[in-house]
Amino acid sequence: MELFSGTYLDHNATSPLRPEVLSTVQELLGFPGNASSIHKAGREARKRIEDARAQIVKLVNAGSRDVVVFTSGATEANNLALRVTNIERVIASSIEHPSVLQAAPDAQIIPALPSGIIDLAALDKMLTGNTQQTLISVMLVNNETGVIQPLDEVVKIARKYGALVHTDAVQAAGRMHLDIQALGVDFLTLSAHKLGGPQGVGCLVIANCLAVAPQILGGNQEKNLRAGTENLAGIAGFGKAAELVDIEKYHKLGVLRDRLEKDLLALAPNLKIFGFDAPRVHNTSMFALPGASSETQLIALDLAGICVSNGSACSSGTVKISHVLKAMGATDAEAGSSLRVSLGWNTTEKDVDYFLTKWNEMYNRVKSRLGA
Ligand code: PMP
Repeated sequence: MELFSGTYLDHNATSPLRPEVLSTVQELLGFPGNASSIHKAGREARKRIEDARAQIVKLVNAGSRDVVVFTSGATEANNLALRVTNIERVIASSIEHPSVLQAAPDAQIIPALPSGIIDLAALDKMLTGNTQQTLISVMLVNNETGVIQPLDEVVKIARKYGALVHTDAVQAAGRMHLDIQALGVDFLTLSAHKLGGPQGVGCLVIANCLAVAPQILGGNQEKNLRAGTENLAGIAGFGKAAELVDIEKYHKLGVLRDRLEKDLLALAPNLKIFGFDAPRVHNTSMFALPGASSETQLIALDLAGICVSNGSACSSGTVKISHVLKAMGATDAEAGSSLRVSLGWNTTEKDVDYFLTKWNEMYNRVKSRLGA
C-alpha cells in the first residue's frame, strides 16, 4: 500500500525509505534477540549489527583503527563529536546544522562567503598563534544549498595548527564518494534517513580510536560510547541503505536539477540561485524569488501535492530566516522568499515537469505584484 501520494522533492529533509531497506527493517522488527545476550538469538542480533557496521565502514572507507558508533541519528552523533576529551576550543562554521551550533554555544564562528563556501582565510587567521587543544567542525555538504565545503583545505589548515576536525557528512553520504582516510578528518557524522534508510538512526565515525566522552550512560554498548540496547532494525536498515549507495547513478540527478534551474531562470530571470557557482551536490537547488514569500510558494505547491521546503526542515513551521542564507549575505527579502527543492533516488523527470508547471502557475499569479 502506498503510504504517500504526491510529488516528493524534499530529500534533504528526509529521503523516503528504499523498498529493500523496508524489507530489512520489517524482517528485524520481528526478531527477538538483544545483541547483548549471549544466546543464539542475541548472537544473531549481534551479527546483524556488526554486518551493518561493516557496511558503514565500506561506505566511508574507514580504516582498521576507526570506530563506528551507532546513535539515534546525526543530531546525537554531532553532539557526541563535540565531546572529544581535552578540547579547550571549538571552532564551527556559520552554516553548520543547529545540532552543531547549539551543542557548542561557545564555538568561535568561521564566516561564509556569498558563494556558500566557508572563508578559509578567516579560519587560518583564527588559528594563528593557537596554543589550545582545538576542534574544528565544518560540514561536508550544506543541507540548505547543497554547497560542498573544501574539507581538504580545512584539514590542511587544522594540521598546521594541531587542531582536530569533525565533519557532518549527512548530506554528502550517498551523493558523493566518501573516504574518511582520504579526507583526513578525525570525526564524521552520518544519518540513515538522508540516504533512504530509516529515521532515528545514525552514527559517528571516530578515526584512530580518539577519546570521546559518552553522553548517554548506563550500559557498555557501542564500546562504552553510547549506552542502551541497540536499535537492531534501524541499524540493519542503515547498513542496507549504505550498501545500496550508487554514486554514479546519483550523479545523473544533476541532469534533472540543472534542467529545473534552467527552466526556472527562463520563467523568472530575477530568480537568485544560492551557491550556483560553487561546487554542489547534484540533487539540491535553493533559490529565491524576491517578493513572493516562501510561505506563499510553499502553500501553493503544497495544495498541488508538491513537497518542498524553505530552508532546513528544522526551521520550517516557524517564520525564521535561514541562518545559512544570512551567513552567505542574503538579504531578508531573499532569505524570506527562498525555496529548497531536493531530488532523490525516486525522483523522475515527470516530477520535475509537474513542479515546473505548478511553480509557473504560482509565479503567474504573483508576477503582476512583483512588477515582473
Ligand atoms: N546535520 C545535517 C546537515 C542535517 O541535514 C540533519 C538533518 N536535518 C542533521 C544533521 C540531523 O540529522 P538527524 O535527523 O539524523 O538527527
